[in-house]
Amino acid sequence: MGWTDERVELLKKLWLEGLSASQIAKQLGGVTRNAVIGKVHRLGLSGRAAPSQPSRPTFKAPRPPRPMAQPAPRRLEQRAAPMPAPVYFVEEPGSATVLTLGAHMCKWPIGDPSTDSFTFCGRRAETEGPYCVNHARIAYQPQQPRKRSGATELARSLRRYI
Ligand SMILES: [Zn+2]
Repeated sequence: MGWTDERVELLKKLWLEGLSASQIAKQLGGVTRNAVIGKVHRLGLSGRAAPSQPSRPTFKAPRPPRPMAQPAPRRLEQRAAPMPAPVYFVEEPGSATVLTLGAHMCKWPIGDPSTDSFTFCGRRAETEGPYCVNHARIAYQPQQPRKRSGATELARSLRRYI
């Protein structure tokens, strides 16, 4: 009796289930134990594992290293240190406000423009410019002392509106 595909499949199945060659021969019928063993060898099934321990290696793929949880770079903090609040050097309040400032009055701003106490110098301006003598000296001196830079910047920006 030859090895049909069906009988080969049955042989494989019984062999893998753990039956002995003689048991398989009996199940198949028409073949000897030696024939079963020979067929098993030709099929490459001889090294079978015990049925209770299927030869399926528990293979754990190495887990890829988890990328380090990095917080998003906080570029805003790196870009600019907070601007210091502008320092207005201490000065007596001026005599003029936005409403009363005249054409020939010193337009030197004094105080914080966002507050009601903001005034302009209001003294008589020089003929050549918008400021009184004292303030013109401050406004046009080539090297501004650092503590006055805030006020002079303010003055420059205000010139556009006056
Ligand atoms: Zn002035």
